[in-house]
Amino acid sequence: MNVLIASSEAVPFCKTGGLADVAGALPKELERLGVEVSLILPLYRKVKREGLKPTNLKIRVPVSDRIEEASIWKGKTGNNVPVYLIEKDRYYDRDELYQTPEGDYPDNAERFIFFSRAILEAVKSIGLKPNLIHSNDWQTAMVPVYLKTIYKDDPYLRNIASLFTIHNLGYQGIFWYLDMHLTGLGWEYFNPEGIEFHGKINLLKGGIIFSDIINTVSKTYSEEIQTEEYGFGLDGVLRKRKADLYGIINGIEYDEWNPATDKNIPARYSLNDMKGKALCKRTLQREMGLKERDSPLIGMITRLASQKGLDILSESIENLMQLDLQIIVLGDGEERYQRILTDISRRYPEKAGIKIGFDNVLAKKIYAGSDFFLMPSRYEPCGLGQLISLRYGTIPIVRKTGGLTDTIIEFNPKSPRIPIPPSRIPLCPPLLKGDVGGLSGGKGGFKKGRRMGIRGNGFLFEEYSAEALLNSVKNALSSYKDKNLWRALVSNAMSSDFSWGASAKKYLDIYGRAINSANEKS
Ligand code: ADP
Repeated sequence: MNVLIASSEAVPFCKTGGLADVAGALPKELERLGVEVSLILPLYRKVKREGLKPTNLKIRVPVSDRIEEASIWKGKTGNNVPVYLIEKDRYYDRDELYQTPEGDYPDNAERFIFFSRAILEAVKSIGLKPNLIHSNDWQTAMVPVYLKTIYKDDPYLRNIASLFTIHNLGYQGIFWYLDMHLTGLGWEYFNPEGIEFHGKINLLKGGIIFSDIINTVSKTYSEEIQTEEYGFGLDGVLRKRKADLYGIINGIEYDEWNPATDKNIPARYSLNDMKGKALCKRTLQREMGLKERDSPLIGMITRLASQKGLDILSESIENLMQLDLQIIVLGDGEERYQRILTDISRRYPEKAGIKIGFDNVLAKKIYAGSDFFLMPSRYEPCGLGQLISLRYGTIPIVRKTGGLTDTIIEFNPKSPRIPIPPSRIPLCPPLLKGDVGGLSGGKGGFKKGRRMGIRGNGFLFEEYSAEALLNSVKNALSSYKDKNLWRALVSNAMSSDFSWGASAKKYLDIYGRAINSANEKS
């Protein structure tokens, strides 16, 4: 199988969120499984050029009634996964990937419609022979649209299947209808069966409608997005395609996120020897200007957005500050939340530390140095923060939604132990027909994505309210006080296995389905 992964960001080249982690890790894991895989990205100013080289290849990409020329750079990731980067300075030689504090770049429609079409032109120019292109989120959602429209009879591209992954339905790439000319598509595609959405263009909708198979990043989220509450207006479109809609939980890169080898944290530790974690905590308290003491420390690393529960956090923060705890937030995003959090850290300097910005190194120090990790998300497609926290023995307190439901199991102090050695617990049973489906799939074996046999690894609350958040934190703190319980809980957390292996195999399965489906249609 030969697969091209198309993404607008990927670790280690450029990152604004979880998509980059996934697009960075999945190709390496697929390579391990014997897939011939490559990755394609825009060459942003932020991408470090070491290890990358310009090629002689040029592409000519139709945009509106013009031709835009671009160049292709090449590098690699993993052992030998080729990475191609589209160099087009007019679009990508900017400070940020998508937006500045003033808002989205006004030409984002053009930047990513161009990118999607450039991917197909690059496939031809490089001479890649993918059976399937795996595109991700609205930025590359036009790839499946083009494969089924403008390029459907292209002798080079016509048999390529498509998988489209929704990492977050809240971001759809919606633009005014007069941008339609950028796509090169006729107005016959500007209708509810095409990419029109309430009088505007919706790129993500195009991805859903035109791709052979669709998936999202947890089973629960694949079900939630078919409801009005979580569907962002596209639940009807998704329900229509439910037979082709799957949910596959993300993993994290266990080599990258590993407290036993992590050079970015002040001391290394593992389940057998946790002394280093205490040092990480003290160092973090010092670095963030908090009082060095043994009260429970809650970390948060997040976009400052309502999706991430910042509204209920803001509502409860004053009450949280009355408890015996400390809190550290690293976040980037909406100014109103920056203000609320900065104000709290000024008024409670010994208990609350806030750092505004995006900082990969500080993030690791917080994952390692905290006792708890808070994710009170309104909705959460998968969530990576809780998975990284588990790896660092930091206990997630999360709202029961999306991927958080599928990865965090409420800790029960009455039966705290793990019944089977974790290394022998399969991540999930081998894939059976229909077993990865959203609503299409079997209900057997692998319940709600949970790891079989693992006992509670965190704390969950259901109602989206400040009060439920506060109660869940209070409940979590009570387990911190009992050292034996705490050890069992940390041990459960660190034994949970969310490495990529099993999920990558599930991707292989749906790639196969997409290829079969494309063959049947052609
Ligand atoms: P998102 O919806 O933002 O993609 P995820 O939980 O899926 O949320 O992934 C977020 C990723 O980005 C994690 O790797 C997290 O550690 C990282 N991250 C989020 N905010 C920051 C920040 N301010 N600084 C550094 N890393 C961050």
